[in-house]
Amino acid sequence: MSGTSAVAADGRLAAYDFGPDRPFQAGRLDAGLSLLRAAKVLDEDDLLAFHPAADADLELIHDRDYLEALARFSAAGAAPADPVEATRFGLVGDNRPFPGMDQAARLVAGATMAAVDAVAAGDLAHAFAPVAGLHHAQRRRAVGFCLVNDVAVAIARCTRAWPLRVLYVDLDAHHGDGVQAAFYDDPRVCTVSLHETGRYLFPGSGEVHELGRPPGTGRSVNVPLEPRTGDDGFLAAFDAVVEPLAAAFRPDLLVTQNGCDGHADDPLSDLTLSLRGFRELARRLHKLAHRHCQGRWVATGGGGYDLDRVVPRAWALLWSELSGRRLPSRVPSAWLATRPAPAQDGPSGWLEPRQRRRRGSAGPGARELEERNQRTVRAVRRLALPPSVRVVYPLARRAGGAAAGRLPGWEPRAGEHRSAGGPLVLRDRTPASLLRRLEVDPGIHAFVRDPDQEREVLARIAEEPTGEVVVAHTPEGMVVGYVAVLDPEPGTRFASLPGLLEVGAIEVATGWRRAGVASALLRFAVEPDPFEDLILIASGLSWHWDLDQSGLSAVAYRRVLGRVFEAAGFETLRTDEPEIAYHPANLFVARVGSRVPPARRAAFTSRLLRGHHAMP
Ligand SMILES: [Zn+2]
Ligand SMILES: [Zn+2]
Repeated sequence: MSGTSAVAADGRLAAYDFGPDRPFQAGRLDAGLSLLRAAKVLDEDDLLAFHPAADADLELIHDRDYLEALARFSAAGAAPADPVEATRFGLVGDNRPFPGMDQAARLVAGATMAAVDAVAAGDLAHAFAPVAGLHHAQRRRAVGFCLVNDVAVAIARCTRAWPLRVLYVDLDAHHGDGVQAAFYDDPRVCTVSLHETGRYLFPGSGEVHELGRPPGTGRSVNVPLEPRTGDDGFLAAFDAVVEPLAAAFRPDLLVTQNGCDGHADDPLSDLTLSLRGFRELARRLHKLAHRHCQGRWVATGGGGYDLDRVVPRAWALLWSELSGRRLPSRVPSAWLATRPAPAQDGPSGWLEPRQRRRRGSAGPGARELEERNQRTVRAVRRLALPPSVRVVYPLARRAGGAAAGRLPGWEPRAGEHRSAGGPLVLRDRTPASLLRRLEVDPGIHAFVRDPDQEREVLARIAEEPTGEVVVAHTPEGMVVGYVAVLDPEPGTRFASLPGLLEVGAIEVATGWRRAGVASALLRFAVEPDPFEDLILIASGLSWHWDLDQSGLSAVAYRRVLGRVFEAAGFETLRTDEPEIAYHPANLFVARVGSRVPPARRAAFTSRLLRGHHAMP
């Protein structure tokens, strides 16, 4: 092994082949690896050794009778002889058995396992398993060319061996349904899939509201995108969701499925991405791995069915990013000469074929689909990201200058709170410059590991033109809690009401909880004002709450939080907002100032409240 990256693939994987009349065929391995070799970015030393996966590994994800069926139907003629059994396990149609398929599937899983094991153990920083990412395979069923779920097997094995938290990012045009299902209730594995909406595309799932099951609720995230989304739309959705999600989840290991079947030339989907888009995505994933996972990153090849022009280039761009090897300026002509005629005469740029403007792509329909994607992304953010994370990773820079709805009282104030843990200084309108001089208690671990970074997070909120940070710190200058108040995220139902502010986050360091700090901070931050002309709201989804050490259930925690807000003059309300209303442990509170004009109050009530709940 040379360097810190490796490729987990060799010629044995060519056996994973559904035949020349199926899009998933052996040619993809040779087409891809031969280009890496021709471009001189891959040596024999770069190849990671691997073995076929054993029963014990596959059984972490698959049922034994399914594995037995895979072995049985690997023999030529076995499936036609028993069509009922073959159908039961999905071994028909796209997944029609081929001789030796059992061993081939075990090799794919073995390659991914070796890649994940080597990175998790620290032997490699990054690894690439090109013939891998069979993300549709289910517990006891083959689906969409996927016989075994190699990614799920490798992740399950690694989380069993080490106490790691794994972030799985699936960029394939199709929903990563099998991996999502494998970890739907597992809080240690967070799966996020960006894909073409299931309204039009196989497998039909991957809706925004598929969020996981306790204790893994909120750890399944889906961003279904419209056909013809294109590079810009896809990258915007990635930026709005994946980076903040990583910040919130704090993973130890990044595993990605880099399927390139979203390419405009791919026969199976209509996302109209280009190789430039895939290169950008690889760069972002690489940065994310170093920022949040100490660099640990395993990429898998996933889908992609244009074997002459798209798949080999996409793999080369991904491997170049991951390994740091520079590609030559052009695709080597010697390699092009080995390809079939149309590719042979085609362009030799790495980013060819370029994204073509499809007929009608700039018309009114383009605006409509962009808006649909934005609505989807906003819904995903509200559901998947805790408020404090949304504050730090805003969807758009908030409008600056004369903030229409700042809290009354422009002069910074300081106050005092005598807590059981000792005296605390309360301070509002804390400027970023002061926050950067204070220390942050390591018990505040909202979304980074390092207290220095947490301090930077607070400073960044304070720098938002309409954001405000109110802190509680010890006389020695250690921040033990904060409240953030801000304009609601643009485009939400809350943002459309003038004069409405959101309490976006309340955080108290673990060692200082149950000492009345949260109540004191909130009362100080939004001190009731008899002349108030603002509507203040706060909403909380149960899985955003850090219940790990509290020993409370979500419903009990909601009561505690409701009391904290009630002490500051808020009322717990029932809302129509579907993202809050659909779970009883979610919380919605509001305080409507006495000077709020009646029309505005009525708009708030009719737009956000359920039934005829009396307002103060
Ligand atoms: Zn796919
Ligand atoms: Zn790196």
